[in-house]
Amino acid sequence: MSNTDADLALWWIALEAKSKDRQAALDSAHQWLRDAGALPKVTTHKYVCQRGCKLIATVFQIGDVVACAVEDYKLSPELNLSESTEAGRARNTLDGRGHWPGHVYDVRQLAASGPNASMDDMICSHHHGKVLASDVLAAVDGVRPGHPGAPTRL
Ligand SMILES: [Zn+2]
Repeated sequence: MSNTDADLALWWIALEAKSKDRQAALDSAHQWLRDAGALPKVTTHKYVCQRGCKLIATVFQIGDVVACAVEDYKLSPELNLSESTEAGRARNTLDGRGHWPGHVYDVRQLAASGPNASMDDMICSHHHGKVLASDVLAAVDGVRPGHPGAPTRL
């Protein structure tokens, strides 16, 4: 473990201790790393659209945590109406209509909840799918943070 990795692990422990829960800590960590331009240094894998329209998710490592930040996404008008209610859209979207917020997952924690546990919001205009937490863990096994290799095209 390099000094930077060790610093990051300590930073994460402190962040988790002062956050109201683990999800809040993960959200803060992701936001901070992104705002500081430091996310590439801890990235271990990326998921992108097959047709290259967007980055769908970034897997990154902080201490012993494997986190996966799924980007926010827009659903087509038809799908949006069929898959959600008006009240749900008003409550949960960024624009009150069809722009859904991203989410930062703790991938090991998710994988521990069962073999079929997955991230179900791996979405762009061309792809609407999910990725198993266990597949993410397999993809980043042995990968050094900051050296993510080729992205998975969904
Ligand atoms: Zn796409």
